[in-house]
Amino acid sequence: MRGSRHVPAVAGDRTGRLSTPLSKAVGPKTAEALEKLGPRTTGDLLRYYPRRYGDRGKLTDLAHLRLGEHVTVIAQVAKNGGVRPMRNRNGAILNVTITDGRAELQLTFFGKHARTLDGHANRLRTGATGMFTGTVSAYRGSRQLTHPDYETFADLDDEFEAVQKIDWPVPIYPASAAIASWRIGTAVRTVLGAQQAGDVPEPLPAAYRETHHLVGALQALQLVHEPHSTTDIARAHLRLRHEEAFVLQTALAQRRSAMLARPATARPARPGGIRDAFDARLPFTLTAGQREVGDVLEAELARPLPMQRLLQGEVGSGKTVVALRAMLQVVDAGGQAALLAPTEVLAQQHLRTITALLGPLAEAGMLGGAEEATRVTLLTGSLGATARRKALAAAASGEAGIVIGTHALLSENVQFADLGLVVIDEQHRFGVEQRDALRAKADASPHLLVMTATPIPRTVAMTSFGDLETSTLSELPAGRSGVETVVVPASRPAWIQRVWQRIREEVDAGGRAYVVCPRISATEAEQGAEEDLVEDLLDDLPDTGDLLATGAVGAAAPAPARPALAAVEEVAALLRQEPALEGVTIGEMHGRLSTEAKDAAMAAFAGGAAPVLVSTTVIEVGVDVPEATVMVILDADRFGLSQLHQLRGRIGRGTKPGVCLAVTTAEPGSRAMERVEAFAGTTDGFRLAELDLEQRREGDILGAAQAGRGSSLRLLRVTKDLDIIADARAAARDLVARDPALATEPDLAEVLAESLDEETAEYLQRF
Ligand code: ADP
Ligand code: MG
Repeated sequence: MRGSRHVPAVAGDRTGRLSTPLSKAVGPKTAEALEKLGPRTTGDLLRYYPRRYGDRGKLTDLAHLRLGEHVTVIAQVAKNGGVRPMRNRNGAILNVTITDGRAELQLTFFGKHARTLDGHANRLRTGATGMFTGTVSAYRGSRQLTHPDYETFADLDDEFEAVQKIDWPVPIYPASAAIASWRIGTAVRTVLGAQQAGDVPEPLPAAYRETHHLVGALQALQLVHEPHSTTDIARAHLRLRHEEAFVLQTALAQRRSAMLARPATARPARPGGIRDAFDARLPFTLTAGQREVGDVLEAELARPLPMQRLLQGEVGSGKTVVALRAMLQVVDAGGQAALLAPTEVLAQQHLRTITALLGPLAEAGMLGGAEEATRVTLLTGSLGATARRKALAAAASGEAGIVIGTHALLSENVQFADLGLVVIDEQHRFGVEQRDALRAKADASPHLLVMTATPIPRTVAMTSFGDLETSTLSELPAGRSGVETVVVPASRPAWIQRVWQRIREEVDAGGRAYVVCPRISATEAEQGAEEDLVEDLLDDLPDTGDLLATGAVGAAAPAPARPALAAVEEVAALLRQEPALEGVTIGEMHGRLSTEAKDAAMAAFAGGAAPVLVSTTVIEVGVDVPEATVMVILDADRFGLSQLHQLRGRIGRGTKPGVCLAVTTAEPGSRAMERVEAFAGTTDGFRLAELDLEQRREGDILGAAQAGRGSSLRLLRVTKDLDIIADARAAARDLVARDPALATEPDLAEVLAESLDEETAEYLQRF
């Protein structure tokens, strides 16, 4: 479900500009091919920007084309062999050789009759330059394109124009086998040519455009699709990036102001209440950061406006205690708090930790319960009917001051007596939708605290959490001994042997070890990269740097064969046979296990009965076993940097130092190895998150398939456009504060209503 209710924009009355279906604008056949790439309306097509630009005067390097790649190249015809009959069968063949001046590529055309090939033979005269697109194959040792689609530069224009346009950058669009780049270009120009000033909405306020020296909406489209120089492209991009940032930030500002407009119940601290009692029994002193954030939360909860706060903190920085203190303040004020966790494992762990931390304070009405005590209730999807009914009653009656759960908490029939605070742990697995669903459970807006241990670079925070204020816990509690990370090449059997021995030593010393695998079983698809923050993000943000590269534009080549990835079931079986681990019980943990089995595995691991746990990334988030000192990550190169960092955060949480062994088959010097080495080289989560962004970005250049996907963020680059995002955010907040309904900016309202509710809501929802 995604919808306009998330974007409280007011639609302008000119809705419908640029919403002509493509079939009406460019003909049904072209429209059909374009629709497969994403665009459905004229507006969509105008926002289908060139992926990069070619240079007529600069030929593509043909030597580096790979077999199987779908490419678009700029080259010159070196030799036209003429149409000849085929030797062994009926029909004719035309061979044409194209070149970049050094390497060559064969073009082959087949026809039933010689005359069917005459057109090609005429157009592809020796010396002609053009763009050719097709899939690279091999024939008798040389590389070729069979039946390439092509356009010679002379076809396009008359001679005069050809000379004039020789310097113009050639837009190269993400294309498909069904429609070549220049056919897309022709369709775009057809639609663009029909637009008058005023047909294209101008979402940027005039003052904003002036301050930032930005071209107008229509001109930007003209410049991006038909640039006469690289300066044109740069001007278009600058404007379009600002536009994307501004539109998004306006939507976020509206969300924020709509939420702030709903009153919340003030939940001031109560001296001598349960929170004070809790503070008094804490076995440690709070860090300075925990106290500071605690003060901010205390003050915000005491206001009659809903708190909207993101708390980010390194893994192990003690966010749970901070959140718990806020929850207790709300309980002191007569309200309830809900804590939402992304997995059952984590919800259960929260229940255990929180109950343990509270002790008698969680035993209201029970023998030995403290006077100020409350109750803590777990509500997850896998509860039995009776337990569920009890939990629901405890939430609805208000008897439970703290309700901990998973998505099940969001279901319609969960009611609270007086929900005052919603805490969402590990935010990136929850979306805006869920935030809203929970908020809807209270009459007045509950206060909201979102916690994430995935450090979020500032730009991403501003983009994805623009409606929240941010606090950061940067300091780890004293007494942590940290984690040392070592890269272990899988190709060295002696090293692997040493890994298992290391686990043995740790277990003998009373420690626990995780062994993380990317897959569950040999037959299972890979688990590793799932739900990676950065990956999701970059999927939507195709790279547009590298403006005038004349390299081939290709779809990603098929991945080269690689050794099978480590799988939980196989690795566990292997370790049970491993002499170094004789007598050590090996547990297994992954998402396919039943809740009981997961609980049992977790309990056996935590208690030491099964001190080695072979697991997928289900342990990634928040699991806290202080005795865990070793983590072996198999196929470490298969995980994102942020994810590796999360995983590593599971160890070294007690007083003993942790060791993380990152096993990889990656070649020395390869990109994959660089990533694993970067991971081993720093424990700074923010640094790793940024590196992750940068690296994925480059890796994304090949992913042509992603360029056509719907998103209103096409050109904005979260890694590099910090200034734009910051400016847009300030201006958007300003505007919304002055004019919440955007009455003075009808075009902006129109654009918000039309594009954001579909696309950006979906984008935001992933976080
Ligand atoms: P995270 O921020 O990763 O969620 P947790 O809240 O799970 O971290 O805290 C990690 C561990 O540190 C827990 O065992 C918690 O009890 C402990 N802890 C939290 N705050 C402090 C502190 N101020 N001093 C010592 N230990 C603390
Ligand atoms: Mg946590």
